[in-house]
Amino acid sequence: MVLEELRDRLNESGYKNWLKAGRCLLILQQRLHPFINNQMRAFHGDLLNQNPLLRRQCGTSCRPRGNKSGALTGLCKVCSEWGKVILRHHRQPDATVNWDNCSPPSWSHDHWELAKAYMPRGQVKVKGADKCDASALLNLINYCDHFRSIDTKLVREMLRVDWSICVSGLDRMDAADLDVLESDSASQWETSADSISQWEAEVLRERLEELLHDAETQDTEQLTRLGDFLQANRDLAELFSAELQAISSLKARE
Ligand SMILES: [Zn+2]
Repeated sequence: MVLEELRDRLNESGYKNWLKAGRCLLILQQRLHPFINNQMRAFHGDLLNQNPLLRRQCGTSCRPRGNKSGALTGLCKVCSEWGKVILRHHRQPDATVNWDNCSPPSWSHDHWELAKAYMPRGQVKVKGADKCDASALLNLINYCDHFRSIDTKLVREMLRVDWSICVSGLDRMDAADLDVLESDSASQWETSADSISQWEAEVLRERLEELLHDAETQDTEQLTRLGDFLQANRDLAELFSAELQAISSLKARE
């Protein structure tokens, strides 16, 4: 029965494409984590080696305060220097820099506090690459000029996937190429319906997390639509019963 419900969902091309795109983003995220973490650690180390002032500790527990032009104000000598260095390595220093993401006293000893200056809002509590979504990591690559020296072919190699899905027993084969992906890779995946079902659950769980628990991305309208979809699919309604309860509670409070 579960297999039949899954098959019905995969027969809907819009849903299937959404699922594939979601899965690819999760894979991208998982592969980017160690790569970006290592790069940022190296970048942080280079900055410390080049500028002895950056190795000193903040003595006044500075907090990030930007003025209208986006420049940092009211910081100690060490944190001010960090602010200047961060802007010097920003590809678009005139754009909004989300200083609120950062804890300046940590810049001298935590490479991830440095990374967060190049990311979208909402990263205050994020302590490492493995807690970031793909979008935040791609922003970092885009804005931090340390990644200028990285061969972009490396990033594309992460991305190159030729995706084939075979739901065994259902005589259903789909070899799809996503617009955003190059499909000339030799890697090819044949997966069982069980695996696809697990991927589906992973993608849906990620989306529910974003919509339910992240204040930046919470969207009641989309939550309602997703909740209706889960309710209409018995297997998913069972799997995500706690999340459906949370959606009901959220709507009841409105
Ligand atoms: Zn300071």
